Amino acid sequence: MSTDALSPAAAELRTVLERIVPAHRAKWGDSNGWEALTDFQRQLGAAGWGASAWPVELGGKGLDVNDQLACDVEFARAGAPRRVAVYGTNNVAPTIAAVGTPEQKHHLRAIMMGDEFWCQGFSEPDAGSDLAGLRTKADVTDDGFTINGQKVWTSIGLNATHCMLLCRTDPDAPKHKGISALLVPMDTPGLTRRAIKQINGEAEFAELFLDNVFVPRTALLGPLHEGWRVTMTTLGFERAGVLTIAGSLVGKVKALMHSERLAGVSPTLRDRAMHTYSKALILEWMGKRALAETADGPGAVSSLIKLVWSQLSVEYAELHADVVGLGLIAGLEADAQNELLSSRAAKIAGGTSEVMKNLIGERNLGLPREPR
Ligand SMILES: Cc1cc2nc3c(=O)[nH]c(=O)nc-3n(C[C@H](O)[C@H](O)[C@H](O)COP(=O)(O)OP(=O)(O)OC[C@H]3O[C@@H](n4cnc5c(N)ncnc54)[C@H](O)[C@@H]3O)c2cc1C
Repeated sequence: MSTDALSPAAAELRTVLERIVPAHRAKWGDSNGWEALTDFQRQLGAAGWGASAWPVELGGKGLDVNDQLACDVEFARAGAPRRVAVYGTNNVAPTIAAVGTPEQKHHLRAIMMGDEFWCQGFSEPDAGSDLAGLRTKADVTDDGFTINGQKVWTSIGLNATHCMLLCRTDPDAPKHKGISALLVPMDTPGLTRRAIKQINGEAEFAELFLDNVFVPRTALLGPLHEGWRVTMTTLGFERAGVLTIAGSLVGKVKALMHSERLAGVSPTLRDRAMHTYSKALILEWMGKRALAETADGPGAVSSLIKLVWSQLSVEYAELHADVVGLGLIAGLEADAQNELLSSRAAKIAGGTSEVMKNLIGERNLGLPREPR
């Protein structure tokens, strides 16, 4: 197929994916198992595409947001496996790059090459939206930290090799202070994990139980007791990162628009598809401009992008389900079924829609702050 209309980066990625995706499918089939998914990250890493958004000096491709979007469309187009490294490559690694010590920055290459897979241990049973209310505590000594507590909803927590873990290190400080971010190997004694099974049958999350887990002082990411600021950096990357996922949403809606299936459905459904496609394009366009124009990082626009993307994810999943119709009921359309079941999670992950609206009200509209 011609690559004329593609940017050089997207064209290069297309060539790489045309080589590694069929080889991956030949070896693993459609497996969504951990071994298969992590093997794909290693293939990407070996091909120089393990963390393409990173700056060149960190081993990435230094892609701008336009190229990131174009590349995400290529991943969708190639039918590439789900990328389980994203929590590391998109969220944890940029935070380590921003505030980590030179020694901690050694993790970056391992993350990119698929030797380490990181999860984020933030949420707790009584601290999700109110993350600053977290109670997992770490007793600080000259040698390091002894951690006790529980985390929940930890994506890839069942298999990840490392965790960026938030703990309360100063119980007497106000709740947004006295939190620290720690880098914890998941095989540390005292750390146990339990799978949380979802409605789609998969277990993408885990609960983590920490019972006298000890890590040395070198595990501290950023300054002591300033984990809140460190976490806001991570969540800013996470929320802005959904813009690149919006690229794959555009790709999916586009593929649906071109599919034979759509030709056979009612004009009303085709009209809905056009609406969803238009909205996805507007999100993509606005997000690109906003990110390009925001000199002080993605913070101010990230909540807006996250809110709109999550709404569109649900809209697309419902559209896809209606287009495949009886195929869904008969259980023949695994993708559409899975999308329908999992799309609502987009309104919760990385901060709920209600919390995004609060942030937009406070930061973008300048409305009075919600009492906390
Ligand atoms: C797909 C997915 C992946 C996730 N991955 C991770 C992960 O890797 N690591 C991790 O630590 N966590 C993860 N989470 C957890 C996620 O961050 C939390 O579920 C989320 O922050 C909400 O917290 P909660 O579940 O405790 O709900 P709660 O905070 O208890 O909220 C319950 C309801 O109350 C509403 N609400 C709460 N506070 C307010 C408010 N101030 N104003 C208006 N409405 C409010 C919420 O919007 C929600 O509807 C993930 C969640 C999902 C769905």
